Amino acid sequence: MNDSVRRAAAMLLVILGGAALWWAGSGAPASASANDAMVATIAAAREHAAANDPRLKGASRFEEGGWIYVHLEGDPGALGYQHGYLLAPEIEDGFAAVSAGMMHSTQRDWEFFRKAAREMLWPKIDAEYQQELQGIVEGLRARTGSKLDVDDIVAFNAFEELPDYYVPWLNKKQKAANAPNLKSPGNCSAFVATGSWTRDGQIVMAHNNWTSYRNGERWRIVFDIAPKNGYRILMDGFPGVIASDDDFGINSDGLMVTETTITQFEGWDPNGKAEFARARKALQYAGSIDEYTKIMLDGNNGGYANDWLLGDRKTGEIAQLELGLKAYKLWRTKDGVLAGSNWARDPKVLKEDAPEFDANNKESSPNARRARWDELLKENKGRIDVALAVKMLGDHSDTAQKKEDANEHTLCGHVDGSPRGVKEWGWQAYYPGGAVQGKATDATMTKEMRIMARMGHPCGGDFLAKPFLAAHPEYAWEEPYLRDMKAGPWTEFRSGQAAKE
Ligand SMILES: [Zn+2]
Repeated sequence: MNDSVRRAAAMLLVILGGAALWWAGSGAPASASANDAMVATIAAAREHAAANDPRLKGASRFEEGGWIYVHLEGDPGALGYQHGYLLAPEIEDGFAAVSAGMMHSTQRDWEFFRKAAREMLWPKIDAEYQQELQGIVEGLRARTGSKLDVDDIVAFNAFEELPDYYVPWLNKKQKAANAPNLKSPGNCSAFVATGSWTRDGQIVMAHNNWTSYRNGERWRIVFDIAPKNGYRILMDGFPGVIASDDDFGINSDGLMVTETTITQFEGWDPNGKAEFARARKALQYAGSIDEYTKIMLDGNNGGYANDWLLGDRKTGEIAQLELGLKAYKLWRTKDGVLAGSNWARDPKVLKEDAPEFDANNKESSPNARRARWDELLKENKGRIDVALAVKMLGDHSDTAQKKEDANEHTLCGHVDGSPRGVKEWGWQAYYPGGAVQGKATDATMTKEMRIMARMGHPCGGDFLAKPFLAAHPEYAWEEPYLRDMKAGPWTEFRSGQAAKE
């Protein structure tokens, strides 16, 4: 018997002993507090046993600037176990908020998503990521006694692709009567620049994440991942999800990755590979723009279809991979800027994958922000650096109304302030969503595995749930999940970082 097995066996005896005492006591008129104490003892024994699990070796967690930083290392099972264990409270909380949203918008029950995860997604997930997802479940259960299983965690990992890509495709295929009018999301404002556009001639990349405040306020994890195979990763992310998912990340071979989502994208391939698994794999294994593109195209299922903005700090080259399902296009340059605000531009992608998108409507959120990126980036050609990039992420210039405002037209989105909402994404008037956090980095920082990140609106503004819900009772269903989203400071994070003393 090795040490860990002996320790686990000893702990099991403690747990069983506790349970036996509790069981013996339950026939007698034992007080509720005695039972509570016994439950707490069992929970403490479980936590103690879990904390001694050798899979936690090397893992750590600390909080700074409103972010939760976790360092994960080792083989896939260990990465997952550490993730599940260290972020257990946040995973339970994030799962509740996200699953409620998925069920609310689609009018499907949770079992529907579990089945899709189990039958459609799981068989095509690489063994490495299956082990990591299973590890999350084990770490989570060891820490909190969670009831979540791997089907729950896989469906949860696919929260950007199942409700808004798979379900509309399925509704159409089944000609479902009274199906909700689902729209694919439009997440984010971002750019990547290089050459004569930047202050030092090297790559600068920046991104703010647009989503519901309900989910976005929970999108506060910095993952520092040292996997057994592949490159080291530093990325922002969501508790319980193995990809960055919003997306912003760098790897130790110098690849820089972000994206914005294609508005009004339609399509799904049930035989493809889950987007979250491809995106994670690409960040972990791609050392070049070509390798990144190859991994994303392999088994493309159309889920969470994005305009990927890429940089390779080794060559100074940047690229845009507009990844439709029926069509895709790759642009690349060593001297230029590529921006995104949720619009596709390749005629073939527009025609075949986003046919409803109106590229000429200057009033829409994607196009108003596109116009602002154009003028803001041109104004600053040759001066772009990380300090300027983080200011751009908080920009409130509305090109549609030609004034300073904070709404759906601005790079820093505040749709809760807009009577128009964003109809292209199905966001009604005053929808509680917009830019929920921002990140930036450059080639030098990437070489040293560093990023800047701000939790909350990149402009520094706060969202307060209580007055919002009082003013907008139509969003009352979100009340159990919608929380204040207060902005933190711009904070630097780096791989291998330890908590400040
Ligand atoms: Zn703002």
